[in-house]
Amino acid sequence: MRYSIFSLLRQSWAGHTGWTPAWRDAAPKSDYDVIIIGGGGHGLATAHYLASQHGITNVAVIEKGHVGSGNIGRNTTIIRSNYLLPGNTPFYELSLKLWEGLEQDINYNAMVSQRGVINLYHSDAQRDAYARRGNAMRIAGVDAELLGKEEVRAMLPFFNYDDARFPIQGGLLQRRGGSVRHDAVAWGYARAADRGGVDIVQNCEVTGLAIEAGRVVGVETTRGPIRARKVALAVAGNSSRLAAMAGLRLPIESHVLQAFVSEGVKPLIDTVVTFGAGHFYVSQSDKGGLVFGGDIDGYNSYAQRGNLPVIEDVMESAMALWPGLGRIRLLRHWGGIMDMSMDGSPIIDHTPIEGLYLNAGWCYGGFKATPGSGWCFAHLIATDKPHPVAAAYRLDRFATGRLIDEKGVGAQPNLQ
Ligand SMILES: Cc1cc2nc3c(=O)[nH]c(=O)nc-3n(C[C@H](O)[C@H](O)[C@H](O)COP(=O)(O)OP(=O)(O)OC[C@H]3O[C@@H](n4cnc5c(N)ncnc54)[C@H](O)[C@@H]3O)c2cc1C
Repeated sequence: MRYSIFSLLRQSWAGHTGWTPAWRDAAPKSDYDVIIIGGGGHGLATAHYLASQHGITNVAVIEKGHVGSGNIGRNTTIIRSNYLLPGNTPFYELSLKLWEGLEQDINYNAMVSQRGVINLYHSDAQRDAYARRGNAMRIAGVDAELLGKEEVRAMLPFFNYDDARFPIQGGLLQRRGGSVRHDAVAWGYARAADRGGVDIVQNCEVTGLAIEAGRVVGVETTRGPIRARKVALAVAGNSSRLAAMAGLRLPIESHVLQAFVSEGVKPLIDTVVTFGAGHFYVSQSDKGGLVFGGDIDGYNSYAQRGNLPVIEDVMESAMALWPGLGRIRLLRHWGGIMDMSMDGSPIIDHTPIEGLYLNAGWCYGGFKATPGSGWCFAHLIATDKPHPVAAAYRLDRFATGRLIDEKGVGAQPNLQ
């Protein structure tokens, strides 16, 4: 069923009795050309682009829970392409361009909202670093504007400009950045992939990888073995666990990242803002809740829940930037498992096992990458060649030393 104003009107007159499920709840077949493990944003986007761009439709997405139960439904929904390094900029810009056409492509309202992203700076040195990043972006054809303090104040009047511990001097603005309703992305890609012929198999956990003579030939699951010519890992925070099933040890640590939503309030900010003197960022949802987050938890974990010290840390930064937040009630918070790579950049590559592909290391920036990641991973799986904009995301860069260290902090996941 195609969604349009006409289908909406038709269903309104019919009392909404004729809507069909957005996707089939498929039972696993015994054999596929491609199995994608992980029904998050990246796995579903990969399946959609395999079908729509490469004509590969004998594909299953195997998800241990339900579609949207992982990080795709837990993130703070920010999209942007304001990267500095050549290995990153073209990839994230491709992703942002795909976001701009996504709703037409998948025929689904994902509430793509290009409301801008502002990175605040609080010192001369930070301004210089942001000017450099903005210039690099503009040279690469990406939009960027360096704002002074009064321009920021005109856009964001509620912040503390007068007696702040870290005075706001200005900000780097990317107007094409913004936010997208995260679970609609999962649902929209699932529906589009299903329409393309892909089986989306939920409540099916992969418990082992079948490997014969150095080649992957299928997966073991809680619903029985399934054979496949190619197997693709897109399991985000569980990447190390799945890779270990193939005897691989990844340069990835898993950490929890928390998100917070306040009670609904009248419109206060109409853009996305990151604090430059601590780890804190905030935007406002269409329902009125302030959506914010901060740093990862300090220890490795596979638990999808947060802890109190990080809440305190995030709130300290929040209060330093926006003291008025102290009077707003927190409605809910939750955690997701981050696949933190050692240089803060992702991996889209073959593994040493023939037919086994890896999509991982997204740290806490993988939501914005969803369309680009799916596009490039599908290209790699279909052609066995890396997509040109993702060619730097090699697994062996951690051995060769060709790191893509956007923040320049080395192998310290908590600082990426
Ligand atoms: C609190 C928070 C805030 C964030 N904010 C942002 C943001 O603002 N902007 C941004 O760009 N990024 C953000 N991120 C990061 C982003 O959400 C992730 O990098 C991205 O969603 C990861 O890719 P995914 O959607 O495919 O992951 P997931 O949705 O986690 O998909 C992986 C799937 O694999 C499944 N799986 C795992 N093991 C198995 C198995 N054995 N068998 C079968 N299935 C399995 C899981 O159930 C899961 O559904 C945030 C993350 C969190 C938690």
